[in-house]
Amino acid sequence: MPVRATKRGAERTPLRGSSDVLVCGASFAGLTVARELAGAGADVLVLDRYEIGERQTSACAVPTQWLERLGLEASIRQSFTDLLVHRPKTTARWRLPWAFSTFDYRALCELLWAQAAGARFETATVSGRSAGPRGEIVVHTDRGDVRSPLVVDALGWRRVLSTAPEPVQPPGAPLSRGLEVHPAGTSAELEIWLDPALVERGYAWNFPAGDELRIGAGSFDPRRHVREPTEELAARLGARPDGYQGNWIPHAMRDPVEDGVFFAGDSAGHCLPATAEGIRPAFYFALALGRELRLVAEGRQTRAQALERYAAFCEAKRYAYRWLLRTQRAVGRANRLPLMTGLCELFERPGACRWGFEHYLRICPPSFAGPPPVPAAAGREAALAA
Ligand SMILES: Cc1cc2nc3c(=O)[nH]c(=O)nc-3n(C[C@H](O)[C@H](O)[C@H](O)COP(=O)(O)OP(=O)(O)OC[C@H]3O[C@@H](n4cnc5c(N)ncnc54)[C@H](O)[C@@H]3O)c2cc1C
Repeated sequence: MPVRATKRGAERTPLRGSSDVLVCGASFAGLTVARELAGAGADVLVLDRYEIGERQTSACAVPTQWLERLGLEASIRQSFTDLLVHRPKTTARWRLPWAFSTFDYRALCELLWAQAAGARFETATVSGRSAGPRGEIVVHTDRGDVRSPLVVDALGWRRVLSTAPEPVQPPGAPLSRGLEVHPAGTSAELEIWLDPALVERGYAWNFPAGDELRIGAGSFDPRRHVREPTEELAARLGARPDGYQGNWIPHAMRDPVEDGVFFAGDSAGHCLPATAEGIRPAFYFALALGRELRLVAEGRQTRAQALERYAAFCEAKRYAYRWLLRTQRAVGRANRLPLMTGLCELFERPGACRWGFEHYLRICPPSFAGPPPVPAAAGREAALAA
């Protein structure tokens, strides 16, 4: 369990005022939006209920190229070019055309934050929003209200700033559930289990990260608990199930804008169905959003234009999400069939594996990422080191 660094009690002073851009949530999506606004001349305020990097939703694996292109490679713990796929009686080795890396969550967040030169950060729990008298949005927090014309909800699956009637909570919402444990241990292999004895509709995994294993299970069926398969897999691997960490994972896109508020990452349902890979899409859509907000901050477009353009950007990817959702359903149904074993073996062929994984990477391609608009400020680095 991480040590709580967030301010408590008397240290939690009232928070009031306004900012040009208000980013709610300081994880993958929120910090990436803030990074894209560096040097735009805007007053950017980032809020999170915890200190930056204090608590992670997950920190499993992400395509290595994304970390490199974002300048986050110093957070990498281990990289893999092979994926072992276990079926009940066989194991296939997929030789991936690109690498996956596990990383240190706190280090990654600090590196992203170091790139968000000029942004301010406050710990506050966001509870909702209302409309301000001059068209701005008032965000309510446990420390007071903050106003801004440009508000981003990067608060994860709960989509706190939504007032739409669609359910975002289980059991009504399209959510998967995931749980992992983080025992000490080492391994050279990135592994997943497509084994209905562990998870009927979903998969289990072991992602090594230096001196720690990240062993977990994810179910596309939100009614199925994942504690038992996680513990069973840990037992199979001879690991103690230490450091439990679980959450819901949206597996359907949600509206990226609502009443003038922008949503990115899990709050917008950007996690990819079928694989539950949500970190890369959180980066991807947050970069797109940050670039739109930057144009507004620089006076080169209006908020209305940014809302429209960001919504269109997300909409253009909806077809890929629909395909992945179909794949997710098919995998759920076929998990007990020999067909699935045949498919796993097919991907041992380099051509098939390359074709599948290159198409998959293109949904949120690493070429979209680049260096921060402004090199990480020396002042910010000094502040982090203090
Ligand atoms: C067990 C598990 C394993 C996973 N493994 C992988 C993986 O290997 N690879 C991958 O790509 N994806 C993985 N995912 C999915 C991935 O973790 C998410 O898609 C990703 O974290 C989404 O990023 P985000 O920035 O949108 O939201 P989050 O990372 O959830 O961040 C939300 C932020 O908002 C803050 N917050 C929430 N509510 C409030 C509030 N009311 N007030 C203030 N702050 C608040 C939180 O503290 C947090 O900092 C996994 C998920 C789970 C549950």
